[in-house]
Amino acid sequence: MRIHFFGAAEEVTGTCYLLETGSHKILIDCGIFQGGTGDMHRNHLPFPFKPGELDAVFLTHPHMDHVGRVPLLVKRGYRGPIFATAPTCDLAKLLWKDMLSVMQDMEKREHAPPLYDEHDVARAGERLEAIEYDERTEICAGAFKATFHDAGHVLGSSFIEFQVEGKTIVFSGDLGNDDVPILRPTSRLPACDALVIESTYGDRLHEDLNTRVTVLRDLVKQTAAKKGVLIIPTFAIERTQELMLTLHHLAEAKEIPRVPVFLDSPLAIEATHVYEEYTRYFNEKAQGEFLSGHQLFNLPGFVATKTVEMSKKINEVVPPKIILAGSGMMTGGRILHHLVRYLPDPRTTLLIVGYQAIGTLGRRLYEGAKMVRIHGQDIHVNAAVTSIGAWSAHADQAKLLRWVSEGEKKPEIVFVTHGERNAADTLARKFRRDMRIDAYVPKPGQAFDLHA
Ligand code: ZN
Repeated sequence: MRIHFFGAAEEVTGTCYLLETGSHKILIDCGIFQGGTGDMHRNHLPFPFKPGELDAVFLTHPHMDHVGRVPLLVKRGYRGPIFATAPTCDLAKLLWKDMLSVMQDMEKREHAPPLYDEHDVARAGERLEAIEYDERTEICAGAFKATFHDAGHVLGSSFIEFQVEGKTIVFSGDLGNDDVPILRPTSRLPACDALVIESTYGDRLHEDLNTRVTVLRDLVKQTAAKKGVLIIPTFAIERTQELMLTLHHLAEAKEIPRVPVFLDSPLAIEATHVYEEYTRYFNEKAQGEFLSGHQLFNLPGFVATKTVEMSKKINEVVPPKIILAGSGMMTGGRILHHLVRYLPDPRTTLLIVGYQAIGTLGRRLYEGAKMVRIHGQDIHVNAAVTSIGAWSAHADQAKLLRWVSEGEKKPEIVFVTHGERNAADTLARKFRRDMRIDAYVPKPGQAFDLHA
């Protein structure tokens, strides 16, 4: 059996792994490369394998860096099934539609050819097959046995266990943070011989988990007091719903004053509807609240602005106000209009709640840039820029190590992926030194043989 690392190798995006035996090939995730200069070009390159030769595709979770190139696979000849949990199937379809409209926009403005069209998205959607957690599925006449487990990262997110040629190999997907408001905790790592593990925060520890609520509470109070604007660039899936639920809890407990909250992202609004459909994937507490008639994501003063006209009206509302808008790394979307308008104002606070890839506007702001270029204009940053890692949807270094050490059995070999060089190297060193596990950071395109 051989495993190829075609993406998320020494970087965070473009996740794509191929697992092959003498007779079969399967793909785990097929995401887009995001952030770096030239990344859009990389997305257009031919796949380093023939899509028509794949037997099956498995998707760990609905984030663009894990599912974004799937319609391209179909366009280039893939005809097999695409396995994922039911929420991942629904959310992936939303993401592809959203990506398509972003690419069509870019085509108009910059004559950049889109990666795929409506037909490819529709055909990819038809190939999706929903799988439940903890149910073993046999494919390729039993050559591969696959089990999805709850990764606790976003709704329906999974790590996937494969049994192949007498070996067990687990792909972590992205692993969730601890004690999140909506999801269940990450399931225990089953006994496995080889593990492919993400390392987004492989070299960092998040703040204390209570901090995320107190920081948010204090920022809302300060924003109200100085009649400012609190801007939260948010990822449409999970971050948005967690923030809304937490704001709801704070408002109910009267810990924050009533301030209008705008959700200015059509994708996040649609994703929230998917959350409302799949409450059975929630943790007990969130399920209980939902069943007792709470409108979890509908806090006082909340406005979802789906159309462009509604979005423009946000400007007319006199501060204080809170604006949640995408994209999360500030690479596009409605957030840019709000940044142009409000970053020069010292009463504004920009709260960064997620990972910001190298090369993105979000990363420059996170690193303290005092001047940024948006929509061809130089914008002075007089706003306070603050970030809190505890709002991340990702496990930190401590959780990643704990997940492995508390697993059913120590893996023989660990491949550390989905992290920038330092994060991946640091985590790999920890596995080797502290846990005496063989750990490698695969290079892009590198392959490893796992012997039966
Ligand atoms: Zn993710």
